[in-house]
Amino acid sequence: MCYNYRMKSYIVGNWKMNFSVGESSVYLHKLQQKTRAYRSIEVVVAPSFTALQPLSLQLDRKKIRLAAQAGNPHDFGAYTGGVSYTQLRGLVDYGIIGHSERRQLFHESDKDIRASVAAALRNQITPILCIGETETEHTFGETEDVLRDQLLGGLSEVSTEDITKVIIAYEPVWAISTTTDSRLASPDEIARTVKFLRHILSDTYSASVAEEIPILYGGSVNPSNAGAYLTVPGINGLLIGGASLIGDQFIDIIETAKKVQS
Ligand code: PEP
Repeated sequence: MCYNYRMKSYIVGNWKMNFSVGESSVYLHKLQQKTRAYRSIEVVVAPSFTALQPLSLQLDRKKIRLAAQAGNPHDFGAYTGGVSYTQLRGLVDYGIIGHSERRQLFHESDKDIRASVAAALRNQITPILCIGETETEHTFGETEDVLRDQLLGGLSEVSTEDITKVIIAYEPVWAISTTTDSRLASPDEIARTVKFLRHILSDTYSASVAEEIPILYGGSVNPSNAGAYLTVPGINGLLIGGASLIGDQFIDIIETAKKVQS
């Protein structure tokens, strides 16, 4: 199978539950000052809900786009504390869905995740569907089964017309926020997994769908390993947690993405 190497690269920073509204605004200001607008790179940041509205007012959309870190799949109603994709419409271009922390800490089920993917699409928000096996699943050789279930489960309410509007992020849970090199996923391992994911997409949808859907990698990406991950065959960008909180590191990764394209 050949991949679409001309596809743009996505560099997505997931800020998780960090930064006050003021800190988010200062960070965005500096980021916009220090980065150039590249047509071939989509830079996305995912702040907390409270910062989305103020940041949307200072956003230079040629350089940066906003993502929500989660959302409630119901449009409106009695869901105390929820924020729906209908409410996020117009505020964000992307929605991170099914992050392993949402699956584990907030008990989001496959049903919630597939409903969120559908809700994001119906509100013109591009879903970034996160999938990834845990350490135990990895150790017991269950990676492919888990990924197949999460991928097809998350996409099962998406129409054939909308399928290429989805982005997939492969994030092995055991490689997220690690501090030792031995826990990092190797580029070869990621290449094999991404090939497997594209085969599933090809079998389930079509070869062209499998080529067109961007697949990002996430798991302890930093300026020293970003180049290696960005050149894994079939990878179209990165989802970054820790390193996205440090402006200079995030900018370094954006510049690396530009370098590996040329
Ligand atoms: C994440 O949580 O999605 C993530 C990739 O985090 P980190 O980059 O810190 O491993």
